[in-house]
Amino acid sequence: MTIDLDALYIDLHKHPELSFQETRTAGVIAQHLTALGIEFEEGIGRTGIAAVMRSGTDGPVVWLRADMDALPVEERTGFEYASTARGTDPSGIEVPVMHACGHDMHVTALLGALEKLVNTKDEWSGTVVAVFQPAEEYGAGSQAMIADGVLDRFPKPDIVLGQHVTPLPAGTIGVRSGTQMAASDGLTVKLFGRGGHGSRPHSTIDPIVMAAATVMRLQTIVSREIDPRDVAVVTVGSIHAGLKNNIIPAEATLELSLRYPDDEARASVMEKVERVVRAEAQASGAEEQPTITVDHSLPPTINDAAATTKLTAAFDRAFGEGTVIDPGMFTGSEDVSWFARDSGAPLIFWFWGGVDPAVYAAADAAGTIARDIPTNHSPFFAPIMHPTIEVGVDALVVAAREFLG
Ligand SMILES: [Zn+2]
Ligand SMILES: [Zn+2]
Repeated sequence: MTIDLDALYIDLHKHPELSFQETRTAGVIAQHLTALGIEFEEGIGRTGIAAVMRSGTDGPVVWLRADMDALPVEERTGFEYASTARGTDPSGIEVPVMHACGHDMHVTALLGALEKLVNTKDEWSGTVVAVFQPAEEYGAGSQAMIADGVLDRFPKPDIVLGQHVTPLPAGTIGVRSGTQMAASDGLTVKLFGRGGHGSRPHSTIDPIVMAAATVMRLQTIVSREIDPRDVAVVTVGSIHAGLKNNIIPAEATLELSLRYPDDEARASVMEKVERVVRAEAQASGAEEQPTITVDHSLPPTINDAAATTKLTAAFDRAFGEGTVIDPGMFTGSEDVSWFARDSGAPLIFWFWGGVDPAVYAAADAAGTIARDIPTNHSPFFAPIMHPTIEVGVDALVVAAREFLG
């Protein structure tokens, strides 16, 4: 290896950057791509990079995606290379910054994989497009790159591949065919009443009572309308109305987080939310229709069945039977799918472990995994470097080679 992957990982880990601010990270990636002799473009979707590597004159186009951003979390791992970085969030507040989701590991693994693929060009044919994506944590980076033309200016994918480090034992790969991660939407609902004096409720339309009834009725969507065998979440995470006890305000605002496994469930829950919101407004005698705004929308991460079967067999051959497990569907969400959805290509997104297997086994035996094994976004989330880096690199290489000519 020309790239010292340990040094690269430590450097990225010490210098985490918030979403859409990944300029130093992009600079480090650009340096390595230049050294490897791989063509690339910077500044796609603000801070994203796409790199292209060809071998032979034809063959499939395989996209390999890594996200680059970090989180406003104060690192508490106690590592010698722990982050002490600070950043400024979009509201202008200074915050601690940490690679608490392991995206530094994703960048390291993808650069390591690119070096291996460059050095074995005579063994494969086709095109590898490596996408270093900003702002996954905002659920906005892949769409920013697409809006900036990444699907038009670069060879369109025949398959999109991506991976995420996770609290499984290092050496283990988790992947399933079908829904791997949930879809989610964030909604803002504005309810309009008629403001007035608190002593004269009959002359007003009270948006606080309207909001209270709406929140309660929304709870019946999952409990009364969704098949108990299906997964759905309707959470009202914020509610704001009014400034003073003797003023009935003119409006109320609710913020909702919705989760579901597929587009059909999404459509169904969305329709029910809208029906409840409108009906409660009508029940209150509202003179103005409520508004419902989708603030962000992440599609489900759905792994293509045929491609996943093929890849699982390749992983078994490369890493040994028993390495690959079905981790079940995660209720978290990802924005990697947009690259596949907008291009019509199949997607496979897998997880790979970063926890010391002995530590994991001890927690498993004691029944304390939930308490003792830090998850992504925890200030203690800390993949061990070995064999996590090697498995991350090799998983990408094995997967890319499986779908290249
Ligand atoms: Zn994350
Ligand atoms: Zn992540």
